[in-house]
Amino acid sequence: MRGSDLERVVEAQDAGNTLRDALGELRAGRKESHWTRFVFPQIAGLGRSPMSRRYAISGLEEARDYLSHPVLGPRLRQCAQVVAGLGATSAEGPIDAEKGSGSFCRHSVSVPSTSMSGFRTYCFLLQPTSRQRTGLTRLCLGQCELYNAALEERRGAWAWEHRSVSLFDQCRTLTETRQVRPDLFECGVTVCRGTLKRLEWAFAAFYRRCRSGETPGYPRFKAASRFDSVQWEDTNGWGLDTENERLRLMGIGHVKLRMHRPLRGTPKAITVSRQGQRWWVSIRCAEVPAQPLPATGQSVGIDLGVCALMATSDGELVREGRFAKKARDRLAGAQRVLATKRRGSMHRSRACEAVGRAHRKVANQRKDLAHQLSRKLVNDHDLIVCEALRVPQMSRRPKPRPNGKGGFDRNGARAKAGLNRSIADAGWGMLRSMLVYKAEDAGRELIAVDPRHTSTRCTSCGHSESENRVSQAVFRCRGCGHRDHADVNAARNILRAGRAQRASARAGLGN
Ligand SMILES: [Zn+2]
Repeated sequence: MRGSDLERVVEAQDAGNTLRDALGELRAGRKESHWTRFVFPQIAGLGRSPMSRRYAISGLEEARDYLSHPVLGPRLRQCAQVVAGLGATSAEGPIDAEKGSGSFCRHSVSVPSTSMSGFRTYCFLLQPTSRQRTGLTRLCLGQCELYNAALEERRGAWAWEHRSVSLFDQCRTLTETRQVRPDLFECGVTVCRGTLKRLEWAFAAFYRRCRSGETPGYPRFKAASRFDSVQWEDTNGWGLDTENERLRLMGIGHVKLRMHRPLRGTPKAITVSRQGQRWWVSIRCAEVPAQPLPATGQSVGIDLGVCALMATSDGELVREGRFAKKARDRLAGAQRVLATKRRGSMHRSRACEAVGRAHRKVANQRKDLAHQLSRKLVNDHDLIVCEALRVPQMSRRPKPRPNGKGGFDRNGARAKAGLNRSIADAGWGMLRSMLVYKAEDAGRELIAVDPRHTSTRCTSCGHSESENRVSQAVFRCRGCGHRDHADVNAARNILRAGRAQRASARAGLGN
């Protein structure tokens, strides 16, 4: 650690401590809230380690509402400044204190990492014996019960006493639970903690959405048939034997797994999940070494579309995809069969399985294509530029238009539903996240640019007009008569915008 880094860390600890003191004053004679118990202490720990720094950033993000607070506001601002200063010199790359860590969907430049690539998750198929299968099913049932009980506790505490129950509180009561229900603890306490953590995540997501003005649903009780995964959040209670391809699970045994690819990094946590009749394990690894690829000197812009899934600035169009559209008849058939079956019958469960299979097939095809496309893009190009699309906003339902007579005017909901289906079917979000991690791993540069005007501007003369785009596929410039495929034209504009953004970012760094 260099001298200036050390100074900054000390500064960060000071800022954190003043925030903690301010909290202490506020807390005296006051009821504790989620903020005083979690968020602020989280921020206060900001200088101690890279991990606590990351927590501090998410805490700052959460505490934004308190920026106008007379006591906490100035201290929070001070902390944000310190975090921004830390980020500039830390190995994690630049951190924007206002936005949190550099998030991809806002126009950002991903920084190629040098040695460590961070986290990776590997999924393997488990091949349990029938006894192990029973054990896993029972484990899921027990954990489902625990999840629902913990949710009940939180709901009740709030409804009756206006008291919020934290993950920490619930983990502490596990010791007492053990005396009453030893059967829940046959597979160790780690998996129980994992279940409680999952509930915590559900609540965290709920509150986050509430704060951002959405109308989320309150975390629900789960049916045993829907509770399909259990997780071990630390390295206790399980072990991985890569040589013999066995996963040791406490209380279950040594489960065979098919390791179709080598694991990189250190396994830290696992999730075991059920998909139909199959069981999978996903192993989360940390400290995964990056695998930089040799430079190719090529750069590419990509445009994600609905009629062609992807167009590149090299003029390549990907017409595959739209798997759900092709599988729609098969799915509809399977669902029709399911509808005729009596509830609770054996035939019904089999029909149910068939519907699940049809859905999984589509999902797998989409995932496979996204893997292939992203791998090819990352292998062949040093710089990849794509548009910063905000998929959830794009696929939002149109607002209903009441006509004042108790009815509704047309709002184009049906057409939008069709477009939304296409957007979901294209799988842009998945393709983009695969690009992000593959590019990071290979040391490639990935830039997201503002997509405005990219589809209407002419690449040859720069004339921008919405009339330029004759149809979904055809682009004809009204200024110079240049003709091109509309998506390829957009991809070229995106590449140009990305290069400009990179040049200005570099110029800014040079000052
Ligand atoms: Zn033109």
